[in-house]
Amino acid sequence: MSQPRTLVLFVAVCAIVAFYFFDLGVYFRLDYLQGRQAQLTAYVASAPLQSAAADFCLYVLVTALSLPGALVLTLVGGGIFGLIWGTILVSVASTLGATAAFLVSRYLFRDAVGRRFQSRMAAIDKGIVNDGAFYLFTLRLVPLFPFFVINLLMGLTAIKAWTFLFVSQAGMFPATLVFVNAGTQIAKIDSLGSILSPGIIASFAALGAFPLIARSIVARVKARRILKPYAKPKRFDRNLIVIGAGSAGLVSSYLGAATKARVTLVEKHRMGGDCLNTGCVPSKALLRTAKAVFQARHGERYGIASSDAKFDFSDVMDRIKRVIGAVEPHDSVERYTALGVECLRGEAKILTPYCVSIDDRKLTTRNIVIAAGARPFVPPIPGLDQIKYLTSDNLWDLRELPRRLVVLGGGPIGCEISQAFARLGAAVTQIEMAPRLLMREDEVVSATVLATFEREGITVELNLRAVEFRQTRARKTVVCETVDRETADVVEFDFDHVVVALGRRANVEGYGLEELGISLNANGSIKTNEFLATDYANIYACGDVTGPYQFTHVAAHQAWYATVNGLFGGFKRFAVDYSVIPWCTFTDPEVARVGLNELDAAEQGIAYELTSFAIDELDRAIADEVAYGCVRVLTKPGKDTILGATIVAEHAGDLIAEFVLAMKHGLGLGKILSTIHIYPTLAEANKHTAGAWRRAHIPTWLLACAARYHRWQLHH
Ligand SMILES: Cc1cc2nc3c(=O)[nH]c(=O)nc-3n(C[C@H](O)[C@H](O)[C@H](O)COP(=O)(O)OP(=O)(O)OC[C@H]3O[C@@H](n4cnc5c(N)ncnc54)[C@H](O)[C@@H]3O)c2cc1C
Repeated sequence: MSQPRTLVLFVAVCAIVAFYFFDLGVYFRLDYLQGRQAQLTAYVASAPLQSAAADFCLYVLVTALSLPGALVLTLVGGGIFGLIWGTILVSVASTLGATAAFLVSRYLFRDAVGRRFQSRMAAIDKGIVNDGAFYLFTLRLVPLFPFFVINLLMGLTAIKAWTFLFVSQAGMFPATLVFVNAGTQIAKIDSLGSILSPGIIASFAALGAFPLIARSIVARVKARRILKPYAKPKRFDRNLIVIGAGSAGLVSSYLGAATKARVTLVEKHRMGGDCLNTGCVPSKALLRTAKAVFQARHGERYGIASSDAKFDFSDVMDRIKRVIGAVEPHDSVERYTALGVECLRGEAKILTPYCVSIDDRKLTTRNIVIAAGARPFVPPIPGLDQIKYLTSDNLWDLRELPRRLVVLGGGPIGCEISQAFARLGAAVTQIEMAPRLLMREDEVVSATVLATFEREGITVELNLRAVEFRQTRARKTVVCETVDRETADVVEFDFDHVVVALGRRANVEGYGLEELGISLNANGSIKTNEFLATDYANIYACGDVTGPYQFTHVAAHQAWYATVNGLFGGFKRFAVDYSVIPWCTFTDPEVARVGLNELDAAEQGIAYELTSFAIDELDRAIADEVAYGCVRVLTKPGKDTILGATIVAEHAGDLIAEFVLAMKHGLGLGKILSTIHIYPTLAEANKHTAGAWRRAHIPTWLLACAARYHRWQLHH
C-alpha cells in the first residue's frame, strides 16, 4: 500500500479505535439523548447556526467513519431542529458522509480488491455500469440494508462518485423524512425498532423495486413500439424461420424442431454453409494432404532414407471434394427433414418482423433467426479487381498448383493457406501489415509460427501493406509499401495467383435488414444484445453474421441462445456466455487457445502467473519427431485457478480440451496434476505443465521440515 493510503487508513483506524476505546457510543444512545433533549433545545435556541453546524459536522464524521449513531442523530435532528430544518440538515449531511465513506473505501481498497477478484469484479463492474444507479437506489430506499455497508461496498465498484452522491441523496430521502418526523416526537420513542413497522418497510421495498420494474416495463414498451407499425398476423405459419443453413442455422433449426416448434430453414446456396463447403472442412483436408507430403519429403527424420511424394494437384483437390462429400450428409436436407425441419431452397428476405419471403413464397412467423454468415473481406486496392484473385470462397476450384502464390494476410486463414500451399510445393510469399503473424496471440507464439514458416521456405513479409496490383501479359505484381512511413519503401512481388485473406465481413445486405433499420456494429456485423436479439425482440442473430467470434463452434453455441430465447423468451431468457471460448489455428504446429494470454491480461490489467512447459521435453513428442512448441498457462497469482492456456504443438486443438473443461468447471491445475494421463501421449504435456506450477509453489518451509524428518529417520 502506498504511503498516503497507509496514512489515510491509519487515521481512520485510530478514529474508530478511539470511538470504541473511550466508549463514545454512549453519547449516541437514544436514552442518553432523550434525557438531554431540553438542554439541547435550549442550546439550539441560543445559538442556532453554531449548533446546526456542529450537528452537521458530527453527522458527516459519524457516517464517513461508518460509526454507529447516525440513526439516533437523525432522530435528534428532528427532535431539536424540527421536521423541515432537521430533514434538510440530515439529508445533506448523511449524503456527504456516505460519499466520504464511499471515497475512502474506493481509495483504500478498490485496487486491491480488483486485483484479488479480477473476473468477479469485472462482471460486477459491467453490471454496475449498466444498472448501478438502479441497484443503489433500491438499496437506499429499503432501510433494512445497513447504509454504511452500502457505502463501503459501492466504493469497491466502478460506479461514478457523482452518481453515488445524487442517487444516495434521492434514495435516502424518504427514510430520512420518516426518521426525522419520528424524531420530532423523540421523547415518546421507546426503541429504534418501533419506528419502522413491517408495513413501512414493505412500502419502502415496493418503492425500491419500482425503478427496476419501471425499467423492465420501458424495455417491453420499446420492444412493442418498434413492432407496432407491422400488422401482427392472427395466426402464424411458423414458430421460427431460420435464414442460412451454415453452422449456426443448422443448430438453430434443429433445436427448434427438437422442441417441437414448426421451423423452416432457408438456404440460398449450399447446406452446411462456409464451414462445410469453403471453410473448416476443405481447409483441414488440404492441410492434412500437405502434411502427408511434407512428412514423406522429410522421411529422413523417421529413418527413411528415400521417399518421394509424387502427386497430381488435381487429385488433392478431388480428395477435398470427396471429404466434403463424406461430411455433406450430416448437413443435408434429407437429414434435417428427418429431424423435423422444413428445409427450403431459395433466397430469404425479411419483409416484416413477422413475415419472410422465400423467392415468391411468403411465410408468417413468430420468430426469425438470422444466420446468414460472412464472406471474405476484399479491400479496394487499386488493380485488384482487374485480377482473378482467390479467396477462401473460390480457392477450392483450383486445378493446378500455383508456382508462385502471394497470400495477403497473416491471420489464421492466411497462415493455414500459406503453409498448406508451401508444403505442396508452391513458392509462397505471405504479406502482413502488422509486425507479427497471428496478432491475437502472444509474441512468443507468433515467433514460433514464423520460425517454422521460414524454415519451411515461406517468405513472410511483415510490416508491409499491399497498395496496388499490376498485370501485364507476362507478369502479375503486387506493390507494397512499408507500414512505417518514415522509412517508406516500395517492394514488389510477382505471382501467378494471389489469395486475399484479410478478414471476413458479415452478410447484412439485400435481405431486408436495411428496410427494417436493424442496427449494425462498427465492423458491419448485426448488433445484438446479450440475449442475441436484434432491435426487434423477435428477430435474433447468431454466428458470423453477428460475431464477435467467427468460429463454427461459437456459431453453434450462439444458436442455442438465439433459438431458446426466441422460442421460450416469454418464460425466461438466457444471456449468451462467452466466458470460456476456445479456438485453434491449424498450422503445424497448431496454435490453440482458451481464455487469456499475456497480451489480453496486460491489456485488461489482470495480474497473472505464467507457467510454461516446453514440448521438446515430452517423450511422445520426441518419439514422433514433433518435439517443438509449448504449453503456456496463466493462473491467478499464488493460486492454481486457470485464467487461460495457449498450446503450440502437434494436435494442440485436441490437447486444449482439458483446459477448456477445467476452466468451464472451475478446476485448477492441481486437479489436472492429480489426474492420470496415459503414457506416452501428447496430453501428458498438460500434466507436466501442472507439475511445473506445483513445483514452483511447494512451500519451502515444508520441504525444510521434510528434509529434517528424513535426516532424523536415518538415525532411528
Ligand atoms: C478458410 C476457412 C477456414 C475456417 N476454419 C475454421 C476452423 O477450423 N474452425 C472453426 O471453428 N471455424 C473455421 N472457420 C470459420 C467458420 O467457417 C465460420 O465461423 C462458420 O462457418 C460460421 O457459420 P455461420 O452459420 O455463421 O455462417 P455460414 O457458414 O457462412 O452460413 C451462412 C449461410 O447463410 C446463407 N445465406 C445468407 N443469406 C441468405 C439469405 N438471404 N437467404 C438464404 N440463405 C442465406 C449462406 O448461403 C450460407 O450458406 C473457417 C472459415 C474459413 C473461411
